[in-house]
Amino acid sequence: MNRNKSAELFEKAKTYFPGGVNSPVRAFKSVGGTPLFIKKGDGSHIWDEDGNEFIDFCYSWGPLILGHNNTKIREKVWEAMQDGTSFGAPTALENELAELILSNNRFIEKIRFVSSGTEAVMSAIRLARGFTGRDKILKFEGCYHGHVDSLLVKAGSGLITFGNSSSAGIPKGIVNDTIVVPLNRIDLVREAFETFKDQIAAIIIEPIPANNGLLGVTKEFLFCLSCMAKKNGALLIFDEVISGFRAGFEGAAGLYSIEPDIVTYGKIIGGGFPVGAYGASKEIMSRVSPDGDVYQAGTLSGNPVAMAAGIAALTECLKPGFYQQLAEKTKQFTDTIIQHSISKKYPFKIFVNQSIFWLAFTSQNEVNAAEEIDPKSMDKFKILHAFMLENGVYFGPSGYEVGFISAAHSEADLEKSAQVICDGLDLVFEQVLSPVAQ
Ligand SMILES: *Cc1c(COP(=O)(O)O)cnc(C)c1O
Repeated sequence: MNRNKSAELFEKAKTYFPGGVNSPVRAFKSVGGTPLFIKKGDGSHIWDEDGNEFIDFCYSWGPLILGHNNTKIREKVWEAMQDGTSFGAPTALENELAELILSNNRFIEKIRFVSSGTEAVMSAIRLARGFTGRDKILKFEGCYHGHVDSLLVKAGSGLITFGNSSSAGIPKGIVNDTIVVPLNRIDLVREAFETFKDQIAAIIIEPIPANNGLLGVTKEFLFCLSCMAKKNGALLIFDEVISGFRAGFEGAAGLYSIEPDIVTYGKIIGGGFPVGAYGASKEIMSRVSPDGDVYQAGTLSGNPVAMAAGIAALTECLKPGFYQQLAEKTKQFTDTIIQHSISKKYPFKIFVNQSIFWLAFTSQNEVNAAEEIDPKSMDKFKILHAFMLENGVYFGPSGYEVGFISAAHSEADLEKSAQVICDGLDLVFEQVLSPVAQ
């Protein structure tokens, strides 16, 4: 496969951007090699600058649930653009997207649009603190919430810890207001509430943790969180930036019928444009400015072009059977690969939740916590990733990332991709088991 143009562009990009990219994982650091510069996408396929074609499972990290260059989204965006691209004043399109969401969601009564998932989470945290008058936030190891200062914190050495920041530049004072607990340990959540009585403003969780592998979280655990938050006067924030409009139109909250106090959205909500949102009950949202005293604003918030894209995307998602079909396709695709893996007795699993799946080099039947992922297993992913690329199948360049099935994947796409992955697994385990390869 010729990658000369991508390689050239990457050399140039390294002189412009740190690491040659505008978001770190794109640099291919964890799989090695040169990132592909993508020129165009259509349906389930993307093409790089050298003209190589791939079946995509990254889909811009989740937003493109309808695939690339969707006709309905493109037409709606084009129509909106004829009238200008931004006003910094209210537009009817904001009402339209809000109406579409709120009238089909049992968990939020009011919403505020922002421009990214990170911004949504950051605002939700501020709202929770403002609403409760408390400072501390409880988060879970293995959940990602964007690059929000107070959530770039990883577990320290104890079980309930203040942790360490996972980035330089985070003030100690902020780290000290974040409590980190392992997933699925309700006993430790209870202990945290006892230790920090009346200090915890919110529990924040990815109800479907899909940014560090696809970790298993039970409905019972989520339900217990909701009870425990209520009992202790804290709020439960579901960060549904990845699971919102993906696990179902109402996200994980709807899938599991659990009511969070605040929900954050991103990714799919903007139909491929930069949109995020947070929503809650009227009572909680009444605290947001200008109604209330929690300040939050945005020059491009509710941008009409982005709203148009979101309207077109979510209208498709609302069609009967949309999510069921996606889930069925995902199951069929992953089952094919798993059957092969079982027949060869490979220590390999695919964890699936609706149309999200994770290729995991493990013999465990469940992976329910971040520390259960063996970093060494990523060596195997690296071999598989290179093989998939070579054979026209594009996954995000990290074994910690999940794959997505879109409405645009055809049966033929999935059959071909499953075959490539099965062949890739054969290669991986041949190399791993053969002394020559070592
Ligand atoms: C992607 C993601 C974010 C961050 O969203 P950005 O738009 O990248 O800022 C936050 N939380 C979750 C759960 C995500 O998947």
